[in-house]
Amino acid sequence: MEFLMKNVAVMMNGTTTAGDVFVRNGRIVSIGAPASAPNATVVDFENKAVVFPGFADVHVHLREPGFSYKETVETGTAAAARGGYTAVCAMPNLNPVPDCMDNLKVQLSRIAEGACIDVTPYGAITVGEQGEELADMEAMAPYVVAFSDDGRGVQNEDMMRKAMAKAKALNKIIAAHCEDNSLLFGGYIHDGVYAKAHGHRGICSESEWGQIARDLKLAEEVGCAYHVCHISTKESVEIIRQAKARGVDVTCETAPHYLILTDEDLQEDARFKMNPPIRSAEDRAALIEGIVDGTIDMIATDHAPHSAEEKGRGLEKSAMGVVGLETAVHPSGQARRHHHGAPCGADAHGIPPPLRCGHGAQGGRCGKLHRIRSESQLHR
Ligand SMILES: [Zn+2]
Repeated sequence: MEFLMKNVAVMMNGTTTAGDVFVRNGRIVSIGAPASAPNATVVDFENKAVVFPGFADVHVHLREPGFSYKETVETGTAAAARGGYTAVCAMPNLNPVPDCMDNLKVQLSRIAEGACIDVTPYGAITVGEQGEELADMEAMAPYVVAFSDDGRGVQNEDMMRKAMAKAKALNKIIAAHCEDNSLLFGGYIHDGVYAKAHGHRGICSESEWGQIARDLKLAEEVGCAYHVCHISTKESVEIIRQAKARGVDVTCETAPHYLILTDEDLQEDARFKMNPPIRSAEDRAALIEGIVDGTIDMIATDHAPHSAEEKGRGLEKSAMGVVGLETAVHPSGQARRHHHGAPCGADAHGIPPPLRCGHGAQGGRCGKLHRIRSESQLHR
């Protein structure tokens, strides 16, 4: 079967070239020069479409093993493929938690059985993600993309320092969910206009940026490669910007919902509930600025499905987390500084920086994640 896409922009190595893409039996035969293919199905996109390489998402929850009633490796990777992703990294808040080789093997076998795209797991930083004892990072290192206790912050500074030292010795990255439990006070949406107007308990911004500030200091001290998951506040952007300027080995991600929504958009509906929460308009603007100036390195979905029942208990009582794999790319590309402005930092084809680097084919941390993925596959 042959398929010819005429007059498309093709994204390769961070730049776009206009031309035709010719596909035969599911494989790309040629890109660029006008192609003639008498037997092909031809669609002329009239220079209104862009063809990307497969995207990579460094932050997804595939829910297996342990929570297959929410999602399975099979359904999660099918959703990713539909959204344009060919590689995802799976977070470790599972049952059992991948904190040692025996547990990680359970997850690796579920991935081998169910995944239709490349999946590389994270290993946990601490046993059971409990923050009290280091996981067996050394044994898991060849098989995992990085280490994370995503879903909760590592509360103890000394534990994080030890984890960073271990990660550095293993030449791995610490990917931190930053959240200071002592500042939560039972909050479940942003501590902003909506929470105040509707009598909800809010989550302050410092619960996120306070722990990022602590970790940046530790990463600088230890010399560990450090990545911050799903940043949502303006302060987080600024302190990461400053850390990068003084040479700390740090990267970070944000998620599409923080770029397109503010807490003024909230409704009494748990579709608007995730952790960290959707913040203020000022925070959203700062995140967009962070993408434009390169402080934010990548957009990750934090795809985190739950059952309908778990999401059906209203803002206060529902589980935190939203899906994103099938829908992330378009809204990410549409994030604008001003309501009627162009997409942020867009190139001549209207493609903003996160989508230009989202497939992870170039250098930097995205590229490193890809290289590690290839290496970890060699070990399987
Ligand atoms: Zn997450």
